[in-house]
Amino acid sequence: MRVAVLGGGVIGVTTAYELMKAGIDVTVFEAGPTVATEASAANASLVTPGHAVVWNAPQAPFRYASTLFKPKAPVGFNPSVFVRSIPWVTSFLRNSTSRRSSAATTAITRLALSSAHQLKDLLDETGFDIDAADRGVLYWHNSEKDLANEQHHCDFLVSEGIDAEIIDGDALLALEPAFGRSETPPVGALHVRDDFTGDCRLLTEKLAESIEAADNGHITLDTTVSKVEVGDGGIAVIAPSKTELFDNVVVCLGAATGTFLNLHNVRIPIAPVKGYSITATVTDQAMLPTIGGVDFAEFCAITPLGDRLRVTAVARFEGYDTSYAPSNFETHRRVADSVFPGLVDWDSPLNEWAGLRPMSSDGKPTIDAVPGTSGLWVNAGHGYLGWTLSMASADIITRKMLGRDLPRGTEAFAYRW
Ligand SMILES: Cc1cc2nc3c(=O)[nH]c(=O)nc-3n(C[C@H](O)[C@H](O)[C@H](O)COP(=O)(O)OP(=O)(O)OC[C@H]3O[C@@H](n4cnc5c(N)ncnc54)[C@H](O)[C@@H]3O)c2cc1C
Repeated sequence: MRVAVLGGGVIGVTTAYELMKAGIDVTVFEAGPTVATEASAANASLVTPGHAVVWNAPQAPFRYASTLFKPKAPVGFNPSVFVRSIPWVTSFLRNSTSRRSSAATTAITRLALSSAHQLKDLLDETGFDIDAADRGVLYWHNSEKDLANEQHHCDFLVSEGIDAEIIDGDALLALEPAFGRSETPPVGALHVRDDFTGDCRLLTEKLAESIEAADNGHITLDTTVSKVEVGDGGIAVIAPSKTELFDNVVVCLGAATGTFLNLHNVRIPIAPVKGYSITATVTDQAMLPTIGGVDFAEFCAITPLGDRLRVTAVARFEGYDTSYAPSNFETHRRVADSVFPGLVDWDSPLNEWAGLRPMSSDGKPTIDAVPGTSGLWVNAGHGYLGWTLSMASADIITRKMLGRDLPRGTEAFAYRW
């Protein structure tokens, strides 16, 4: 069997890797000059079964109502994009009932836990160094009320078999002494020991190298696929420079998936949700935290990656735009300087970046064959969790294609649009 995987982000490359390991002849088509150029390039690097919560919720429309259209709000809409996004928003609201949103959170939490275990097994098996840190992930709070509210989620995680607990400020300090320098030390945190951190781009690159080294794996870069066409003898992948015939094609185009499939009369509501990260060198390695985490009040993640520090923030619906300006990193600088003062060397070369989360309107990825188009598959819509969900998603698509037994709960990710 010959399979084409469209898109060389973490989802496309893990998919190709699993297919290749199953003995299938696989080719990745990637528009960029290397793999992991878009959302998988410099994300927050958190692998988080402990925070696989869909954004859909009955209170979601009210939670951000006052700031939704403010241009600098960390979570919000560009008003002109909002009008274009009405079908996505309508679907989001339809999936925001208490029953649907909690079922979706349970489904992705289970997928995330399985995926995190598979990723750890892969790292053990291959010995890949991806600047991983394995002391869990911290979700810290600055108010006792917010910390107390976290108990409900912690209880849910424990009921799902996830190793998590709420810790107070003293325990947090004992666990991560770097908080001792904070301007306002957090009052406590949710500590999820099943979560971990590591560089998504590094893993994607290393898997791509393994694919290229295999007899049955190929990576075709600098190739933008314009369409696919079902015909006699298979499904053709058509790019300006070439046309090639395959038995199956898996679409893993991240935020571009919806537009690409729309061209083929397949509906899949995935909106690009923009975020920004800054990766910096630090003034003193001894001051670097050893556990990654999220400052909840600021919607800001701070992650140690080897000898670097990555700070990630903002979720805005601004269309397909990955441009950035110095002003987009004000939150990053303020939070980093307040939580870990003096740690970042702002005068050293900084890697500033913006990327688009491929956010589905019900919070779950679609991992399935596309009904009605023989040989066409999709693995996309992983939102803010694509790094976390990548390995289990790749496993599901491979099992489905080969007609193997599926893990329980897989039906939650079937094509449903
Ligand atoms: C700011 C931010 C922080 C995040 N933090 C985390 C986190 O901490 N943990 C986590 O689990 N997830 C996180 N995510 C989400 C995660 O990064 C994404 O879900 C994941 O990278 C999506 O991977 P993908 O392969 O689907 O998409 P992408 O990585 O975007 O890959 C799609 C690829 O398709 C290519 N492409 C597009 N069109 C074509 C075409 N026509 N032909 C050929 N190639 C094409 C693109 O060049 C791209 O390389 C974050 C995302 C952002 C933006």
